[in-house]
Amino acid sequence: PATSMEELVSLCKRRGFIFQGSEIYGGLQGFYDYGPLGVELKNNIKAAWWRTNVYERDDMEGLDASIIMHRQVLRHSGHEATFSDPMVDNKKNNKRYRLDHLVKDQKADVIAKVAEAMGQSAENFPAVVAALNANPAQASEALRAAGVRDPFSGEVGEWTEPKPFNMMFKTTIGPVADDESYGYLRPETAQGIFTNFKNVVDSTSRRLPFGIAQIGKAFRNEITPRNFIFRVRELEQMEIEFFCAPGTDEDWHEKWLEARLSWWEAQGVPRSKIEILDVPKEDLAHYSKRTYDLMYDYPTLGHEEIEGIANRSDYDLGSHTKNQSELGLVARVEENLDSIAKLTIPHPETNKPVVPFVIEPSAGVDRAMLAVLSEAFTKETLENGNERIVLKLRPHLAPIKVAVIPLARNKAELVDLARSIKNDLQKLGLGRILLEDSGNIGKAYRRHDEVGTPYCVTVDFDTVGKGEDASLTDTVTIRDRDTLAQERVKISDLSAYLQAKLR
Ligand code: ATP
Repeated sequence: PATSMEELVSLCKRRGFIFQGSEIYGGLQGFYDYGPLGVELKNNIKAAWWRTNVYERDDMEGLDASIIMHRQVLRHSGHEATFSDPMVDNKKNNKRYRLDHLVKDQKADVIAKVAEAMGQSAENFPAVVAALNANPAQASEALRAAGVRDPFSGEVGEWTEPKPFNMMFKTTIGPVADDESYGYLRPETAQGIFTNFKNVVDSTSRRLPFGIAQIGKAFRNEITPRNFIFRVRELEQMEIEFFCAPGTDEDWHEKWLEARLSWWEAQGVPRSKIEILDVPKEDLAHYSKRTYDLMYDYPTLGHEEIEGIANRSDYDLGSHTKNQSELGLVARVEENLDSIAKLTIPHPETNKPVVPFVIEPSAGVDRAMLAVLSEAFTKETLENGNERIVLKLRPHLAPIKVAVIPLARNKAELVDLARSIKNDLQKLGLGRILLEDSGNIGKAYRRHDEVGTPYCVTVDFDTVGKGEDASLTDTVTIRDRDTLAQERVKISDLSAYLQAKLR
């Protein structure tokens, strides 16, 4: 695995996985663009998630809801009131920080002082954060007393009292910009699922328990975007809302925890690198009954959230439904006089209308990329003493499945045959097959090791019957990325060979 974030950032830029957004104008903080290989890896991660969670289950439907949503959705979801992080300003230089990030970035002795002032142990950082967030006035005093430094200037800051900062992006809709004509870019894909609950139930005749899965962009105006693609302002999420009868929710919560850990494992992110955080009560989001955060051990950053698996109770459908008072809701919800739909489904046992409970496994695509890249990143010393960097990606995730390489770029016969092999392999539907005619075989191998291409197929003079060994005519060399073993295979066997290896 990678040992630092820097080596990943450098590989991503060098080989075309990830670029800074709007780079030629100096870049835009918190926005990234996925390059030629990044888009493939990202698509492969999303496809793997969709396969496991939609196609391989019998209790799931898919959805692709719109990004811009009616302001009433984000009002009744609770996001207008509570989707905020506490921030503090340094009066000395007008820099603004997210409170928990600011404290986390301090030296250990300063963190210990803050923790003590908040009546917490520095060992339990989530509890320190919860206490800071819950008591702004005390937090402000704690920052001062501990001599918290500004991470930018390095000097002790003069800190304001923490204030909530709403992270939603607002945008005007239509040509008239009056007070009413605005909407929000969704801060999570989840709300599109809740608002389509009735549509999906009515059009599919689903019964409890069942889920709706969605992959898509979400937007959060993070106060301090940082750590490469770990914390961005435009992100992508893979979310499931799994609807079940009240009382079965805790059981489903455990099942989903297990299912998700096993999925991560299949993407090359082992359980041993993921800590399960049972989020402390004080720190739960406004909708949550209980949440497991999967904390992956990122290089340089340490354990940080890659996925949250929340028991959202009947909060969301209960918040968006009409006739709330008749439905026996368990969650405390705000009154809703705007919704025109009753969001119930027959209870599987009594057949009486019920607002189901929801288990939500919510994973970030960008954070998944970072974890997958980090686990795959390998530095090896070869027998000849040379060092190579190789991305040992699972084949189903590799951006390029096979590179077909003519040994010499200026020999039409080799290039044409390589192209025709490439075209045939492409038809197998394995993913991207690349014709690599840069001419330097050593460089090509190095490049494909670094981008994780599982197999390189080389067309040489023997292949076209112009080498020393006539028995090698119509065969190619296949080089295995991980073992470096080279095998001679007949062109006519190539499809079957690669299909078996890459399926
Ligand atoms: P954090 O505490 O790190 O801000 P969160 O608890 O706000 O994350 P959730 O609201 O649970 O995150 O979102 C679900 C998932 O979406 C997260 O597990 C993460 O993978 C992803 N995610 C959330 N915010 C971001 C972001 N700013 N950049 C990239 N991915 C994100």
